Amino acid sequence: MGSDKTRFGLDETRIPEAWYNIMPDLKTPAAPPKAFAPDGTELTMEQIGERLAMIFPMECIKQEMSPDRWIDIPGAVIDVYKTYRPSPLLRARQLERDLGLPAGVKIFYKYEGVSPAGSHKPNTAIPQAYYNKQEGITKISTETGAGQWGSALSIAGALYGIDVEVFMVKVSYEQKPYRRILMETYGGTVHASPTDLTDAGRHVLAMDPDSTGSLGIAISEAVEVAIKDPGTHYSLGSVLNHVCLHQTIIGQEAIEQMTLAEEEPDVVIGCIGGGSNFAGIAFPYYHRKLQGKSKARLLAVEPKACPTLTAGEYRYDLGDEAGMTPQMLMYTLGHDFVPAGIHAGGLRYHGDSPLVSQLVHEGEVEAVAVDQTACFDAAVQFARAEGILPAPESSHAILAAINEAKDAQAAGEDKVILFNLSGHGHFDLAAYQKYNAGELQDFDFAAGTTLEE
Ligand SMILES: *Cc1c(COP(=O)(O)O)cnc(C)c1O
Repeated sequence: MGSDKTRFGLDETRIPEAWYNIMPDLKTPAAPPKAFAPDGTELTMEQIGERLAMIFPMECIKQEMSPDRWIDIPGAVIDVYKTYRPSPLLRARQLERDLGLPAGVKIFYKYEGVSPAGSHKPNTAIPQAYYNKQEGITKISTETGAGQWGSALSIAGALYGIDVEVFMVKVSYEQKPYRRILMETYGGTVHASPTDLTDAGRHVLAMDPDSTGSLGIAISEAVEVAIKDPGTHYSLGSVLNHVCLHQTIIGQEAIEQMTLAEEEPDVVIGCIGGGSNFAGIAFPYYHRKLQGKSKARLLAVEPKACPTLTAGEYRYDLGDEAGMTPQMLMYTLGHDFVPAGIHAGGLRYHGDSPLVSQLVHEGEVEAVAVDQTACFDAAVQFARAEGILPAPESSHAILAAINEAKDAQAAGEDKVILFNLSGHGHFDLAAYQKYNAGELQDFDFAAGTTLEE
């Protein structure tokens, strides 16, 4: 069984026409968000809806709570998707050879680095900017960790003539000047967060003038900007249900491409920061499992420095540092958690998608935490075999895929492995430089210390 091809491409006519909404297929209904007035009384869903309407387009709010399994992708969005989708699916033949794998152990990857931003993030930036444009919004504020999300939204803003203001986590701002320049080139305005432009930022700086920032802090700043200006909306690049929804084109395409490859994956792997690229590849396979067409395990991979799913608590928590967002039921390390400055900036979020969290809680999704240096070992091995330099975030999925392959080999079992290569690492060369110089460190949340190499 199996095709002898390496690359499983689809043409633009095969872009899915609808996103897959997992909500109606969950074993138990998704828990609603919660929010409280300053005096402590709980807000009604209607009041929460009014608050969300201050910062998000109505269409995204509807999608956030929609009971419909399939949600049509607007034709204008599909037209933009056509500039880089469908993304390719490849078999990692040289990596398989380098690992010395037996014929029955196969590694496939879906490559999202072909988008203009170099990651999966435009898949949601484009429809979000489109819906904001439809509502007459002139500016979108947002946060960015590694700069991937800010780049994606800056591109989408440029396409639709919307100003984009980005609060970039300070540690990344300093580590990744070229990401900032990319955003500025597309027309975005970029600040190192925490800033003195917002109450939230000033509050953090008053407590800790040297704060390296966190996604939670940057979100607080961006939301504050949107709340204070009616022409400005806020946009989030991960975590929320509608973001996970938009990413499901990844998995839908992958299912079609794996069919061309004449294989069904035994395990589907994605790295996880807020959960969107993992949801993108895994949710359509969850649906396929419900249809009885797949038995794949779904595996989310996170950094040991920010092990939300494996060491966090499953409870209601805020999405941001200052409490501007509603509370969501999710795995969390606490909304004031500031993770170590690992290079996978996109994986430094204290919480996780409520949908992915629920699936982990119900045993539908497995989670594992891995070390930074092991990830870079895997990334470099992958780059030398397949030619693509992975984003440090994506390297978590690569490491897990290699480990899955080695386990199968040791057990003498066949296994088809599919992972999402969420982006390329062309803007992460400072991290590779450190790795090459032997200067990368591991940070273990559990140990609370830096592990010397
Ligand atoms: C942002 C990002 C991630 C992490 O975000 P998710 O929402 O968990 O997908 C992973 N990989 C890349 C390349 C990213 O840019």
